[in-house]
Formats: sequence, structure tokens, C-alpha cells
Amino acid sequence: METSENCSVKVAVHVRPLIGDERLQGCKECVSVTPGKPQVQIGTHSFTFDHVYGSGGAPSTAMFEECIAPLVEGLFQGYNGTVLAYGQTGSGKTYTMGTGSKDGSQTGLIPQVMNALFSKIETLKNQTEFQLHVSFIEILKEEVRDLLDSVSLNKVENGNGHAGRVTVSGRQPIQIRETSNGAITLAGSTEIFVRTLQEMSTCLEQGSLSRATGSTNMNNQSSRSHAIFTITLEQMRKIHSVFPGNDTPDEDMGEEYFCAKLHLVDLAGSERAKRTGSDGVRLKEGIHINKGLLALGNVISALGDEKKRKEGVHVPYRDSKLTRLLQDSLGGNSKTVMIACISPADINAEETLNTLKYANRAR
Ligand code: ADP
Ligand code: MG
Repeated sequence: METSENCSVKVAVHVRPLIGDERLQGCKECVSVTPGKPQVQIGTHSFTFDHVYGSGGAPSTAMFEECIAPLVEGLFQGYNGTVLAYGQTGSGKTYTMGTGSKDGSQTGLIPQVMNALFSKIETLKNQTEFQLHVSFIEILKEEVRDLLDSVSLNKVENGNGHAGRVTVSGRQPIQIRETSNGAITLAGSTEIFVRTLQEMSTCLEQGSLSRATGSTNMNNQSSRSHAIFTITLEQMRKIHSVFPGNDTPDEDMGEEYFCAKLHLVDLAGSERAKRTGSDGVRLKEGIHINKGLLALGNVISALGDEKKRKEGVHVPYRDSKLTRLLQDSLGGNSKTVMIACISPADINAEETLNTLKYANRAR
């Protein structure tokens, strides 16, 4: 069996506890976690992942340390990274990521990323100059929407080369572009320079508030869009030469520059269109969402298949806006973690099984 070390994508499962609604309906738990193993069981099915986190509530420190901290470390070494929260509506994606306007806004993974990031910067700031900026967008019906439009912090127009402070107005549609060296940029999206943890938290909160939600049969805060919070870290480090036997740095040898980004993605609900039911409009949106998730599944499975990778098999990034946007941060040297969120309730058993199958394909 392939060890997780040589897989380009790590997969973790987060099982939330039964929630109020499910208890009221008299639901029983149908998911169990094998003690001491990263394994979940549902009915006669059993799946093994890199990590499995049981119904302990908020994303634990262990979850952060094991799954996410290596991506934060990677940022400082110049590696891009992507964290994807996958699962049906109501399974805990927003809670886990911390992209809700109330729930998880303190305990979710993104707030933990921010803490780790600023702590590390604090320890390095004497040797290195740092610049941080964030963007927050959502993809709904294959259209990119800016969630930081109305945030009045330090805005810069993205996609025009060098950053300067400008007020953004008369917004053009946001376009995903690829530069000649393969980097993906979001032309026309708001980028906000942040200097403090507080400023970064404000961006997360404000963007979360403006995220589109719509009601479905599943959950009236249901989200049919992919929300992508991106942190870009630029570093400038002076290089010194040190001669043996003399540990005081010698003359300047120039500067080293790194730039890397971390995408934190709260994906659209993975339930099929038929379950969201209702009107034709909703159905159309359901189909579009499936397009992004379908493309993501195909990309990740192509990346995870070492044999295919060696044969240089085509990775279908261009099949959706989501995969196109994440193109330079999935595969290659970048680190990717998928967190499959599931409900333990028996009424969700079918979708839970679908989620586990999708996640299993990523390994
Ligand atoms: P999704 O974003 O996948 O639609 P949410 O994150 O909105 O799901 O979660 C649905 C409900 O379940 C919310 O009321 C949330 O507070 C609750 N919930 C989700 N995950 C957990 C958890 N790990 N512990 C406790 N409650 C949770
Ligand atoms: Mg959500």
C-alpha cells in the first residue's frame, strides 16, 4: 500500500456530534471511529484515512498540529498549500474552517492558522521582512464574487503588478489568469494588506458576513458556493556569508525573496441536486456546484495516482473555476489537505457514505 508520505494529498475526516435538529428527530449515530486507528465505519463499510477526528466538537489542537501546521510551515519555505473542507450541507465545513460569521469564528482552523502565522512571524521578524495580504472570494454558479469588496482596510488592486494603495471602485468581473511562470492570479479581486492578527481576523469576519447563503431542504444557512480565503506571505531575507571559525555574518550577499499562498476552502455542499429539491433555479445551481466538486475530485485523483503522474497524464484543472483557481496550489510542490466533514446521524447515512467514498478517491 502507498504510504501517506508519497501521496500528494492528505485526507482527514472530521465527525461532528449529533446536533439539536437531529436529536429532536430522534436520530441515531451510524458512524463509528475505530479506537486508536484513523478508521471510520458506517454500516458494513470501513475506510482508513490519514487522520480521523471524532465527535469532540471544535477542531482540536491535535487536528491543527497534524493536518494544518505543516502547511503553515510550508508557507515560510515558499510552498503553496490548500486546505479543502468537503461534505454535505450541515456536516460542519464552515464550523471546522471557521468561515462562519459566528460559529467557529474563534475555534475554527483559519483562526488557528492566523495565530500560528503571526507567532512565527514574531520569532523571525529580526532576520526577515514580511508582507501579508489576504483575499476572500466565493465561486457561485461558475462566477467569482469578491467577499472583501466592502471592507475598508488597506485595499490594493490585484492583478496590476505591484501593490500600492488604491481605492477600488467600479469593479470589473474577477478573472482567473495564469502568468508565464504558471502562477495563478485573480485579476480584479480585492487584496488587503494586513499587519496584525486583528486586521486579518476582521477580513475573515467581514467576508464571512457577505457570503451568499440560501435556504434548501437541508439547512437554511446552506451554502451553494465555494468560499476561498487566501493568505499570501511574502518574505525578504538578507543573505549573509559566514566564514568558518567566524560566526559573525560577513558582508551582504543580496536578498532572498519568497512568496507563497495558502488557500483555505469551505467547499459547497456535496449533496446531490435532487436532495436540495425545490425550484428550477436551485437545481441549476446544484448542477454548477457539482461541476466544481466533480472537477476537484478528478484533479485530486489524477494527482494522487503516482502511476498516472509519472506517465504525465493530463490533470483536468481547466474543467471548473475552482480547480483553475487552485491549479498552482494543488499538486507539484504544494501541500494539500482535504478534510471530509460528516454527520454521525443515520438520516444522513447515504450522503456520509458518498463523502467517505469521494475522500477515499483522493488518497
Ligand atoms: P456546513 O458548513 O457543512 O453546512 P456547518 O458548519 O454550518 O455545516 O454546521 C452545521 C451545524 O452543525 C451548525 O449549527 C454547527 O454549529 C454545528 N456543528 C458543526 N460542526 C460541529 C462540531 N464539530 N461540534 C459542534 N457543532 C458542530
Ligand atoms: Mg457552511
